[in-house]
Amino acid sequence: MTDALGQHYLDAAGGAITVGIGHGDPAVAAAMAAQASTLDWVHASAFTTDSVETYAAAIAALVPMDLARVFLVSGGSEAMESALKMARAYHLARGEPERSVIIARGSSYHGNTRGALDVSGRESLRRPYEPWLGQTVRVPGVNEYRCPNPTHPEGCAAFHAAQLEEAILDTGAETVAAFVAETIGGAASGVAVPPDGYWELITEVCRRHGILVVADEVMTGFGRTGEWFASDHFALRPDLLVAAKGASSGYWPLGLAIASGPVHDVIVGGGGLVHGFTFSHHPIGARVGLAVLDRIKELRLIDRARTQGGKLLQGVSAALSQHPNVGDVRGIGLLLCVELVQDRASRRPFPRSTLVTERVMARAKELGLLLYPSTGNVDGLNGDYLLLGPPLTILDDEIDLIVDRFSSALTVLA
Ligand code: PLP
Repeated sequence: MTDALGQHYLDAAGGAITVGIGHGDPAVAAAMAAQASTLDWVHASAFTTDSVETYAAAIAALVPMDLARVFLVSGGSEAMESALKMARAYHLARGEPERSVIIARGSSYHGNTRGALDVSGRESLRRPYEPWLGQTVRVPGVNEYRCPNPTHPEGCAAFHAAQLEEAILDTGAETVAAFVAETIGGAASGVAVPPDGYWELITEVCRRHGILVVADEVMTGFGRTGEWFASDHFALRPDLLVAAKGASSGYWPLGLAIASGPVHDVIVGGGGLVHGFTFSHHPIGARVGLAVLDRIKELRLIDRARTQGGKLLQGVSAALSQHPNVGDVRGIGLLLCVELVQDRASRRPFPRSTLVTERVMARAKELGLLLYPSTGNVDGLNGDYLLLGPPLTILDDEIDLIVDRFSSALTVLA
């Protein structure tokens, strides 16, 4: 990327871990223009469109859900709001109106609108709005680097499943509508990959209590982690799945709230879904989404996320893991996190007042490297995470550049 002053940057973060197919793809621009000149927009209450129907069918064939049905919106927060309403509509349609509670994890992020923010366990973003929040029941986040489980790592999946079950029973299982979680953690947890067996046990607990599983794949969907969806790593088949970011790769504000066929059918057979936005089901968004899917397939970007991600993780680990302030380098596919700490032995974070993330980000930018920041997630205030999530088209020599520039940026900590 080149800015207005002529400075060049290597986009190692895909903006906000958004750009999968790379910037400036002419095929997507052409698809967008073709759709705009054929049919710009119609309101979904009056018509569906070829563009939306074709895209929904293509998505249904990819997601790890039976007979999936797709609701198109304008971003991740809207998609999460839509999924929450679908969960509620499902229980209403089944004649269980007392099921309204959402359970979600600490160190999580699901969006910035009021409902999605209430589900999010990210203190720094919630703090100004706390008087409006507080309906979500919280279970601890998953973070293998800072795991409090006495039987870590073998017993971690069972530990988290037991905590979820305890929260369900404390709340009253008959009042719980859904469990919401990022399949693999994004910015708020610093790319926390769940322990072996986690999703199997969590799903079993939810299903036993009639609770829907909502997988947030806004950051992890569309190849980012080396599978179409992060759920594919764990054979997770959620009842509802939320995606955005990589769905359009940034070319259009696009989000997807996806229901499994059985969930959809219950909703439609009951009271239906009282919901919608003016720009839901936008034909240009759907056409862009379809063009992005084509590019992911043509360029074999899922495979590339795996191979290039492996190289990036290896390069960053080799260059940084001995640095006195690098606590952990972790990730999967092309979604990586470097966690910075003041003290490696105790894993103590830097005090927030030292603005470590901001200083490293600023130095990296001066050096022509764009990173994605996340702060405050160790204890609600402190914690410094720098995320790497370059376009899946990243080349070997660009990986070397990322590693070099990242290493140089860390000299601000000396
Ligand atoms: N869910 C996750 C996991 C995210 O990472 C984000 C955004 O970063 C969202 C939801 C919200 O998406 P948006 O910013 O498109 O509203």
